[in-house]
Amino acid sequence: MFMAHNINQLPEDVVEKIAAGEVIERPASVLKELIENALDARATRISITIEEAGFGLIKIRDNGAGIAAEDLPLAIKRYATSKIRNAADLFSISSMGFRGEALASIAAVSRMKITSAVDQSGLGATLSCNGGTVSATAPASHTQGTSIEIRDLFFNVPARKKFMKSHRSERNALLRLVEQLAAAAPSTHFSLQLEGKKSIDTPVAKSLHVRISQIAGTEFGKHLIRSQYAQPGIDCTIYLTPPEMGSAKPRFQILYVNLRRVDSPAVIAAVREAHGAFTSGELKPAFFCFIDIEPRRIDVNVHPTKKNVKFENERLVYKVAYQAARNGLAQLMGHSGDTARTYATPPESSASIAKRPLAIHETPTEEAAYRTARLVSDDTGARQTGFAFPATPDSGKKQLDSPQDNRVQLAGNVQDEVAGLISCYQIHERYVLAPIKNGILLIDQRAAHERILYEQALENLTKGQSESQQLLFPIVLELTPAEKNVAASAQRYFVSFGYEIRDFGGTSVAISAIPSFMKDSAAADAVRTTINTLLDEGDMNRIAEPAHRFSAAFARGAAIRAGQKLETEEMNALLNNLFSTENPYIGPDGRPTVVRISLDELSRRFLR
Ligand code: ADP
Ligand code: MG
Repeated sequence: MFMAHNINQLPEDVVEKIAAGEVIERPASVLKELIENALDARATRISITIEEAGFGLIKIRDNGAGIAAEDLPLAIKRYATSKIRNAADLFSISSMGFRGEALASIAAVSRMKITSAVDQSGLGATLSCNGGTVSATAPASHTQGTSIEIRDLFFNVPARKKFMKSHRSERNALLRLVEQLAAAAPSTHFSLQLEGKKSIDTPVAKSLHVRISQIAGTEFGKHLIRSQYAQPGIDCTIYLTPPEMGSAKPRFQILYVNLRRVDSPAVIAAVREAHGAFTSGELKPAFFCFIDIEPRRIDVNVHPTKKNVKFENERLVYKVAYQAARNGLAQLMGHSGDTARTYATPPESSASIAKRPLAIHETPTEEAAYRTARLVSDDTGARQTGFAFPATPDSGKKQLDSPQDNRVQLAGNVQDEVAGLISCYQIHERYVLAPIKNGILLIDQRAAHERILYEQALENLTKGQSESQQLLFPIVLELTPAEKNVAASAQRYFVSFGYEIRDFGGTSVAISAIPSFMKDSAAADAVRTTINTLLDEGDMNRIAEPAHRFSAAFARGAAIRAGQKLETEEMNALLNNLFSTENPYIGPDGRPTVVRISLDELSRRFLR
């Protein structure tokens, strides 16, 4: 806890421990130090005035603790700080500024005037400093708090001024800075007057969410997902945009550690990674991520302006940010973390098997295999793709980190109690419509099935040979010479998938065994389509990531098509299996599998 009345000179050894460095690079770095000082002084009101992109004037007034008259000269002295006493303190810092050199550095390169008062008597003191030459302290009238005016920044450092970017980019940097600092301080009213224009005005907000809306816009705030994830000693709360609001260059991707604005590529990567599972690669989320961590687990002193933090355990930070983002998105997209209803299994034909809804990851393998087999059941033999996929026996393992991932929460009124199925609707023999708790899902049946098959295939390939069944009569495929070449180079992939494919003379091949979970006709069809898909890519031995390519090609060959009619059981199985996959929201080729429309969105469209 720091007090307004005692500013101490740091002992020499502490001075040694603080890496020397320039704090003041540009107007925005001046303003950052000044705002952080005001926040450290517990100000609830901070008004900022900027002229000439900060080169002419930076003025900040706060209603914080103030600086006592006798402390004013010390405040602008290098290594004078009220926030640190000895070297040990350095490692458990929670206030923002602690280096005790910001004001001194700024004073050295500008004309500075500080006026401050520590109580409501109306009487305070003022002090001016002109490029490092300090005036005498004089009494001045001021309400409690501090006003600092910085004029003619870098007036005595012409070289620095020359290297500054345009006024426009400086103004932009100043604006961003205030946005970012204000976003994390909802109980402080910020206002920014930029070149005579009121640019920011954020009255005290009752939550971070409200404050973020003040900064980024109410419409933006309305869509934000809030999600939290904690591990011992670390806690992450993230506000991020839903997948449909992603953009190539989001304006906000901001991280705070203990409410201090910092950069961490690991956290950005984690959030993007989590978001990437729900949308195709180019779209990135906007987010405000708040990490709370024990101060001794970070080193904030690695950079003179303290923008980069070093985490003791960066992987843990990555994980926590990833899980927070992922859980929030998964919940929004229809997965649910609680024990609410889940997609039910298709009805058992035998009355001896009790009907009960099952969460997918709890499903025993056999039963899952049965369920999935129903996707293309025998009575639909006319279908072009007689393909059923077994449940992945260890499909539960990837849920260990977030056990809720595999569940789909349904709207309360859609469960068909009798059949134990949820009511899905097939639209244009192409899309499946399913109600979820907060809206509806539209699933592209082909893309969804491709995702399921793709993951299945990839797993089979990485696990090695999967079960195969010998055919009584080999199926002979007539191929073109080019197709036959591809078949030969992809041979070992087919083999590890359970196929046996032999040269049958000329340009023919014979299929004598197929994966045990496929039906004959579909299995042969899949071989041909896989070969054709691979044909564009050339020799399997030369392409990058062959297992991925093969699996994608195979999924494409074997997936149900548009135009194929699905029964309710099949749609349920499709949904169940889709949401058992690692990445339910994108097909192997990167196209979306699912479009979600929230009730909010529907209400808006209907002008409710
Ligand atoms: P630091 O913030 O690292 O301590 P600074 O050079 O930024 O160093 O500030 C020096 C000291 O001046 C601070 O420790 C604090 O006691 C005092 N100070 C600066 N700005 C304010 C302010 N707005 N309100 C109250 N005290 C301030
Ligand atoms: Mg400071």
